[in-house]
Amino acid sequence: MSEVPKHEDQFDSSLCGEYTRILLAGFATCSGLFWLVHLMLGTGAVVMVIANAIVLTIAIGSRFAGIRRLAILTLLTPIVVILLAQQDTQSWWSPRVMFSPTYTLLALLVLLIRDGWIVIQSGSKAITPKTVLAVVIGLALAAYMIVIPAIDMVLEPFRDRPTSYVMEDLTSWEILRVRSSKLTVFAVFAYGGACVGSFLNVAASSAPRRQPIALRSSACPKCGKSIRRIDNLPIISYWWLGGRCRDCQAPIPIRYLFIELIGMTIFASLFLFELVTGAANIPGFFHYHYTGIIWMILYTKWPVVGIYFLHCILFSSLLMLALMEQDHLQAPRWMKIGLLIGFASSVIAVPTMLTVSVGDQIPVQLSGTVPEWLDRTANCLIGGLLGWTFGRLCSSVRLRWRQSSKSLPFSFTLLGITLGWQAVLTIGVFWLVTINLLKHFGGRHLRRQWLTPATLLVLIAILHHPAWKWLSERISW
Ligand SMILES: [Zn+2]
Repeated sequence: MSEVPKHEDQFDSSLCGEYTRILLAGFATCSGLFWLVHLMLGTGAVVMVIANAIVLTIAIGSRFAGIRRLAILTLLTPIVVILLAQQDTQSWWSPRVMFSPTYTLLALLVLLIRDGWIVIQSGSKAITPKTVLAVVIGLALAAYMIVIPAIDMVLEPFRDRPTSYVMEDLTSWEILRVRSSKLTVFAVFAYGGACVGSFLNVAASSAPRRQPIALRSSACPKCGKSIRRIDNLPIISYWWLGGRCRDCQAPIPIRYLFIELIGMTIFASLFLFELVTGAANIPGFFHYHYTGIIWMILYTKWPVVGIYFLHCILFSSLLMLALMEQDHLQAPRWMKIGLLIGFASSVIAVPTMLTVSVGDQIPVQLSGTVPEWLDRTANCLIGGLLGWTFGRLCSSVRLRWRQSSKSLPFSFTLLGITLGWQAVLTIGVFWLVTINLLKHFGGRHLRRQWLTPATLLVLIAILHHPAWKWLSERISW
């Protein structure tokens, strides 16, 4: 992003703009001095001094003019509004008092319009998709953390107050803190998913070739230079470097970025519809009275957290198997056995991991007669066997000639062990329908390397997951 040339600033080139700048600067100086003298009036005075200093700097300076300053202003103005609204003395908002916050806010608004104008004037050449993305993300964050709580607070007096309210009387600062901590927790989980995706890229290409996974230092395949740690951040580095090696400018395959994004999607979407909702998508799981990030994570509900991680690992494993299949590789035996034992033992050992019973959807009443651990073991065995059989049958369905789908039975087995036999049927039916639709409607024109049967299975399983409970209630007979 380059500095916006001066001649594009209407407030510099026109006389009217010049007068506005002088007026704003003069007002901010006087108002700032006034509040500086009256500092003992409390926090409000400090905020006013800072706000006027901001107005003064932006009115006389041209540093960061344009999109960057617009972003700073959009973030700062609501903060000033919130801080001033906290001092609920009437005189703060009285339009008759010179140097009242009303005028300072008006000045900030004028500056906001000015920078918005500069951005529009500077035209399309200064605005790249990267800038737009950064601004959109910035605005969304500002809206979520600042603007919405501010509007909420302004509307508060006009609302009917419920008599019993759990977390009542949060001040706007507390709302801001709660929101920012929620957002941070979500960001940590989502970016953790991107890191897992990055790891899957390495694991899927190294493990079948008997190369070490964890100890390998990453290097550019073209120039051989080792990749710096700062250039190895999932998603961010790809975006920052424009998808090219820093040293030799060789393009980095976009598949790396895609898998990191899918990893992030898995962890972030499961976070939203499974973890935060208290496993609302899981059939047979008990219902928590309180849900949300605070009640699920900060007052940790281990059963939900356990299920969340189990399912994240399940979908990540399926994704890794699909990646290997895309490269015509096979998962090594140690990895397959490790995954089978890992999923089976967690489902059998922890009662809350799989809440679907073998007897569900069958008229025969098993509960009460069969001990719980036996039910779980039977569930695991039947799910795994059905998955394997179904996968073997599905292997014969090909999207194209001579396409490998050797990992399909194993992927279905993992699904059956972890989600139960009922889920194998619903996911399997969706898979069969989709692959047959693709076969007849243009699926053959899609890129051979990308759309393999196992890749399709990962996508169907992820899409099926939020509707799992809903679907299982529909098919019970
Ligand atoms: Zn290179």
